[in-house]
Amino acid sequence: MAHSHIQQADELLDKQFDVLDHGFVRLVDYMGSDAAIVQAARVSYGEGTKKVSEDRALIRYLMRNRHTSPFEMVEFKFHVRLPIFVARQWIRHRTANVNEYSGRYSVMKGEFYIPDDQDIRRQSDVNKQGRSDKEVPEATRRRLVDYLSRSQKEAYDRYNEFIEAGLARELARISLPLSLYTEWYWKIDLHNLLHFLRLRLDSHAQLEIRRYAEVMADIVRTVCPIAYEAFEDYSLKALGFSGPELAALKDALVDLKIDKESLVSRGLSSREAGELLDKLEKIRRS
Ligand SMILES: Cc1cc2nc3c(=O)[nH]c(=O)nc-3n(C[C@H](O)[C@H](O)[C@H](O)COP(=O)(O)OP(=O)(O)OC[C@H]3O[C@@H](n4cnc5c(N)ncnc54)[C@H](O)[C@@H]3O)c2cc1C
Repeated sequence: MAHSHIQQADELLDKQFDVLDHGFVRLVDYMGSDAAIVQAARVSYGEGTKKVSEDRALIRYLMRNRHTSPFEMVEFKFHVRLPIFVARQWIRHRTANVNEYSGRYSVMKGEFYIPDDQDIRRQSDVNKQGRSDKEVPEATRRRLVDYLSRSQKEAYDRYNEFIEAGLARELARISLPLSLYTEWYWKIDLHNLLHFLRLRLDSHAQLEIRRYAEVMADIVRTVCPIAYEAFEDYSLKALGFSGPELAALKDALVDLKIDKESLVSRGLSSREAGELLDKLEKIRRS
């Protein structure tokens, strides 16, 4: 199979997708697409030996059953500009290759993140790590933005002052705030990128990193639409149940009348319908 070119994906290359106030995501390069997943899964078959509908069914089967290695055959390289506090969360994803802008070699640009007025919200009572939808009084929002602008400017002015005085860049930078933007090249395979997206598209992830994940999800959907659809169906929108939850559901399932035809009429493939009936039977017998 020749090097894959997806026309819509090629059109995205080098386009800058703005995120937050000064950030962006740019798809620098990609290798492979849905076809590469199918090719890897079928190893010995060439392209074109199967119909598109069968390729789709194969990709969905692989995703459903967590046969992950074929998804590692597709690679994405992004150029991202992001605030340092977002980068600190992002870098925890260890399966990527990263090259970051160096504040030791180069002078940091004076770009800092200030949250949008509508994103300044109260601490959530339910999610200890996150914010709620509840509004903060306008005066507090204004004070925050004012404080951020002034302290960022002060920190950057002092930074420049010490740079101009000949201080080593690696020292002059150490009191710059986490709201400062950095940049990196980030390369990752599709399997690990989907893992990143599952965690960072989730409502528990910080809103700022979620904004990046949303842009990247659209890019992945363009490069490998079938794999992304399968990811949405079997991972992003899917739910797992714990042992105790299944035990609690067991009684409720005894009277549930559901047959294969009705499941197929609701959009499941015949195979998926069979798999769901098997799962329900397993719960009943547990
Ligand atoms: C909503 C949210 C809140 C979070 N809060 C916190 C927090 O409060 N404090 C904090 O410290 N972190 C926090 N994290 C980070 C989190 O604990 C993970 O470090 C991060 O999500 C990366 O996940 P990962 O390790 O699965 O991903 P990756 O590093 O991309 O790894 C992918 C998978 O590869 C495997 N893997 C990779 N490296 C190794 C290894 N060395 N050994 C074994 N297996 C490996 C694992 O199976 C792993 O799941 C948070 C993450 C999220 C999404």
